[in-house]
Amino acid sequence: MKTQNWLLKQSSTQPDKVAITDGQKQLTFSELRDVVTANVGRLNQLHPGKFVGILTDNTLVGYEIAMTVLASGRTIVWLNWRLAKDELDRQMADSRLTCCLVANSLVRPTMDKRFTSFERFLDLPAQDGQLVPEFDFDQVASIMYTSGTTGNPKGVLQTFGNHFYSAVSSALNLGLGANDEWLCVAPIFHISGFSILMRGLIYGITVRLAKKFSEATIEKILVNEPVTIMSVVPFMLQKLLRQRKNSQSHYNKHFRCMLLGGGTTDMATLKQCASLQIPVVQCYGMTETCSQIVALRAQDALRKLGSVGQPLFMNQLRLAPENNEILLKSPALTPGYLNQPGRLERKMTAGWYHTGDVGRLDNEGYLYVDGRLDEMFISGGENIFPQEVEQVYQQYPGIKQVAVVGQNDPKWGAVPVAFIVTDSELDIADLIHFGYQHLAHFKVPRRYIRIAQLPTNASGKIKHYLLRQRVNKK
Ligand code: ATP
Ligand code: MG
Repeated sequence: MKTQNWLLKQSSTQPDKVAITDGQKQLTFSELRDVVTANVGRLNQLHPGKFVGILTDNTLVGYEIAMTVLASGRTIVWLNWRLAKDELDRQMADSRLTCCLVANSLVRPTMDKRFTSFERFLDLPAQDGQLVPEFDFDQVASIMYTSGTTGNPKGVLQTFGNHFYSAVSSALNLGLGANDEWLCVAPIFHISGFSILMRGLIYGITVRLAKKFSEATIEKILVNEPVTIMSVVPFMLQKLLRQRKNSQSHYNKHFRCMLLGGGTTDMATLKQCASLQIPVVQCYGMTETCSQIVALRAQDALRKLGSVGQPLFMNQLRLAPENNEILLKSPALTPGYLNQPGRLERKMTAGWYHTGDVGRLDNEGYLYVDGRLDEMFISGGENIFPQEVEQVYQQYPGIKQVAVVGQNDPKWGAVPVAFIVTDSELDIADLIHFGYQHLAHFKVPRRYIRIAQLPTNASGKIKHYLLRQRVNKK
């Protein structure tokens, strides 16, 4: 299926509507089209190829360049600026990229001629380029690396069709107002951020870009600006909640949804949000499904606290009978991984995608996510999900962060071990006692290891596999 190029469509239907703002500068859809038209001319001079890498933080110029690549009929390869040099080299090699546009502040001396800074790019002579008249639903719009929580990140192909179905199914759940404004502080190289840019383009609403997450700045934006929706991952919500408790003012009166996904959130945090009237809507999704695929309805948010909701329109969900793995069918599902033929097919049975996550459904069909299959371990025949134990210990006074993994054990198969970030000494007897009060005995960690920092990825998710390797070293 083909549709008119979404930028051309928005700039002809509502030329004066603000497409993007960073709080300082804004661009209407028609201004955006003009900037993009000049940039497409520059891109044609620089790189005739199909794939263009982008390494940028959440800035207006980064957004304009992303829109340029899409509108020129090319494919964005999103790269993560938080990566170490060798990780970036691996993704450059994996994607076989020969051209990557880099935000000026992210240029590193080691970058070779495949990299062009935004400054050098924008210095190329402005010649009007041709925007593709249509977007083809089967065409790959973006390639995005997964978060790398369970190993090396994988390059996920995302078509225009995937983005369209994802955006529409979200709107059918959350509703869409003419004055909706979506705050994007999630990195635009991850699906949580990029899906907001795509929704902006498809819905024709304003996206407000925030460069980096700071709870004080975001609180101010939510109070003073006409933002109606914001996407957050759990660590952002926890920080915003702390900020909210100390604040006298209310979020602006149009604010209607804090869309929360990307990882498990403990019940205490959700309850505090409810009592402070922060309108949290939980959702569940992944890079492979182009963002949320299961979500709560706003009116169920309190009644079903802790659940991630029901499949969005056009999506189907079931649990594998043998292990409760979450299986999905969706038009937003990726057609595959970049340069890894057969990898997606190995995760499919009869049209159902195996997510690698485990969950439960209640009698009304609402999903509760337990955790990841490959982070689960078995102790004396009982399944243990690290997240459940972590959420309990997160409430222990003085614990800043905690991660739990299974350590191999000749008697039990595996036993739980906790890594703890804290400023105080660990009182092991009290930690065990606390566990016994809140958890089944087999879930209470046998060892407690103090650690300065947990290994996490850019979204704040714990890389359990690194800790598992640490306790199971020969
Ligand atoms: P990788 O695939 O490289 O290991 P990743 O799976 O963390 O990394 P993403 O695609 O960014 O990369 O994250 C999707 C995953 O995040 C889901 O498969 C699930 O494990 C987790 N997740 C997303 N939303 C939720 C949620 N609401 N509750 C619990 N887990 C969630
Ligand atoms: Mg994954």
